[in-house]
Amino acid sequence: MIGKELIQIKGMALDELEFCLEELGEKKFRAKQIFKWLYDSGVTSFDEMLNIPKNLRNKLKKIYILNTLRVHSHQSSKIDKTTKFIFETNKYHKIESVIIPERNRTTLCLSTQVGCPLDCKFCATGLMGYKQNLTSGEIIDQFLMTSRNLGKKITNIVYMGMGEPLLNFENTLKSLTIFNSDLISNIHLKHITVSTVGIIPNIYKLADSGLNVRLALSLHSCFNNIRNKIMPINKKYPLEKLIDAAKYYAVKTGSKITIEYVMLKGINDRNEDIKGLTKLFSQMPIKINIIPFNSLKHMNPTGFSGELEPTSKERIKEFVEKLRTKNLQITIRDSQGEDIAAACGQLAIKFNN
Ligand code: SAH
Repeated sequence: MIGKELIQIKGMALDELEFCLEELGEKKFRAKQIFKWLYDSGVTSFDEMLNIPKNLRNKLKKIYILNTLRVHSHQSSKIDKTTKFIFETNKYHKIESVIIPERNRTTLCLSTQVGCPLDCKFCATGLMGYKQNLTSGEIIDQFLMTSRNLGKKITNIVYMGMGEPLLNFENTLKSLTIFNSDLISNIHLKHITVSTVGIIPNIYKLADSGLNVRLALSLHSCFNNIRNKIMPINKKYPLEKLIDAAKYYAVKTGSKITIEYVMLKGINDRNEDIKGLTKLFSQMPIKINIIPFNSLKHMNPTGFSGELEPTSKERIKEFVEKLRTKNLQITIRDSQGEDIAAACGQLAIKFNN
């Protein structure tokens, strides 16, 4: 009830907070203090903001809501250490975030939309359709709430959960700006990767934002006719123009782009795909991340999605070895959390309204 009337304070950038506090007749320096409580300490009540006078805390409570998400449930994999969190927004939408602990780091895979409008044929989120964009507060709260629940430092973030970050550009950018602030000590932008299907105008905008976040591009085929079939967005943003945008991003940010490539049997794992990838990338500073296709069987897909099958382990090995002889830098993504439907592309929840 209350959430509908109050404004989300989490997700506000420092300049917005400064503006709002000045509007309230308060001193500007309070904004920095509140900013730190929100994003560095991750407090869940205004009364935990100890250096904020009580009358200001009371004023804030009347205008703003602090918490944007509730933990609905969480589940840990029995075969690896992955944990999937299901959160509920104040509008009762459910979203998922995944924590992937590795030897030297702990990665959070976060969502940017409730569902996804893009309809990539191999992706469970695509099959569930689209409901709405997450706010910048809801994006950041996935980080704050999983950190708090784990009692452990998250070192890396990948914008690879539900949704397309570059279709929720303003809120994605705002969340990155907040993570980038000197006032927050716990995460560094060079440890954050934004993954996109290739929303070309926003790749340019992200490059020009000066944020220098890492970019991953979901390519999955180097031929327009195949990419059109598995990722309909390719009809709007075709490969040649996408590669130009990727080159611009790499030069502008001085970083290597990751090319994501989900291995689909008979579709993008043929010898001509090796030739195509070599031709496209031998002159570009990229690394290719080969992703074994995670089954969507739990979604009972129909049509073309139902026909998709994973490339065998042997063929993936052969494919990778052949590409390596062409001097391309390649890694194979270690699939995690498959038993709890937390692996890449498996995130999906039935809409409940
Ligand atoms: N919309 C963004 C981010 C979400 S998807 C994007 O597409 O990049 C994150 C990654 O998981 C993408 O590379 C996506 O192609 C991959 N993925 C989607 N479905 C998959 C599946 N069933 N198996 C393996 N990877 C998948």
